[in-house]
Amino acid sequence: MEVLLQGLTQPEVPLKLLLFIDKRPQSREQIRQIRHHLQQLDGDHACSLDIIDISEQPYLVEHFRLVATPALIKIAPAPQQKLTGSDIIPQIEYWWPRWQNEVEAALELETKGQDPQNQAQCVQQSTHTSVAHSAELMQLSDEIFRLRQAKEELEAQLQFKDHIIAMLAHDLRNPLTAASIAVETLELGHHSAKKGMVTINSKLTAQLLNHAKNQIRAINRMITDILQAARGAGAELQIQPQGFKLQDLCAEVLANLGSKVLDKGQQVTSDLPQDLPLVYADPAQVRQVLVNLLDNAIKYTPEGGSIDLTALHRTTQKVQISIHDTGPGIPLENCDRIFEESFRLKRDHAKDGYGIGLALCQRIIRAHYGQIWVDSVPGEGSYFHFTLPVYR
Ligand code: ADP
Repeated sequence: MEVLLQGLTQPEVPLKLLLFIDKRPQSREQIRQIRHHLQQLDGDHACSLDIIDISEQPYLVEHFRLVATPALIKIAPAPQQKLTGSDIIPQIEYWWPRWQNEVEAALELETKGQDPQNQAQCVQQSTHTSVAHSAELMQLSDEIFRLRQAKEELEAQLQFKDHIIAMLAHDLRNPLTAASIAVETLELGHHSAKKGMVTINSKLTAQLLNHAKNQIRAINRMITDILQAARGAGAELQIQPQGFKLQDLCAEVLANLGSKVLDKGQQVTSDLPQDLPLVYADPAQVRQVLVNLLDNAIKYTPEGGSIDLTALHRTTQKVQISIHDTGPGIPLENCDRIFEESFRLKRDHAKDGYGIGLALCQRIIRAHYGQIWVDSVPGEGSYFHFTLPVYR
């Protein structure tokens, strides 16, 4: 136990005292007075005084079960004794002659047939070792507790990943099936044409090709999201997912909007179906997303405008939340860029903000393997959507 070894610097002194203090300004004066007083006291046996700052040596505080400072502890000779309170000096005065006698008695008892100097050292050494041992045990049990917690967190994260992989595999199947059907229909048409049979016309061919292309784009987008989530999720955000009722969280966040909405005379409505399945997410992080999006809706929507929050069970695997406002909307070319760190539309530079709210929302939603995006008709308003996994 390194901390203790530093403190117990004079093992040969038979009367050994520890003074526990804290960082309050008066502590220095208390140390000075106690040290001075000890120097004035008469006695055959010298004492050593080690000063211990409780904030730096918490294990010793625990070991000696201290609840207040200053505290003076006689650790040798045995038995240990604790003096606390504002009158430590008078207490030392009282106990000093008794401590001297204790040292005398301990040395006499232990020195029968042995070298006194050597015995004094033995008494010191055993006290020293037992305190060090006990503090070390406490430190180790703290370490075990922390490791156990870390293990549980890792297990939860792994379980979350399994859940998400199953969900994404399922989600990928939809566009993949749709694209395959389109391609297979085109192939059938091609074979029929070769055999001189009735075939699909060019308009339908173009539609099927377009459909297949869109589905492949959707697959590509999903894979990009997965890769970004896998890169960013674990590294930056610690997600602690659990099953919870999203509609309750939404209702709570809406109820806390308070005066901001009233000040601007805005209408806030919501549609939160009670039969929405539980979502599997980190409630604190999702709250942050809701707060950021609603704050933006209020900030960018002019006075008298309206804001609407809806929740929708979009697929068996996902719940979608949408926040609609009647603000200025987002130009199409910036719909992706507004999620970048520090990006703000020029038109909004005069408004408060740093351009980090949406970037954070995106990080959080991606860490949940969900999606976040905006649909907007410039001049008419914006729809911010995000999805979260359903809890199973
Ligand atoms: P901030 O609001 O602090 O600037 P955000 O990251 O939350 O940062 O938003 C980035 C930019 O996106 C904003 O500066 C604004 O130009 C635009 N924006 C965000 N939400 C809305 C909204 N509801 N309506 C119109 N523009 C918005």
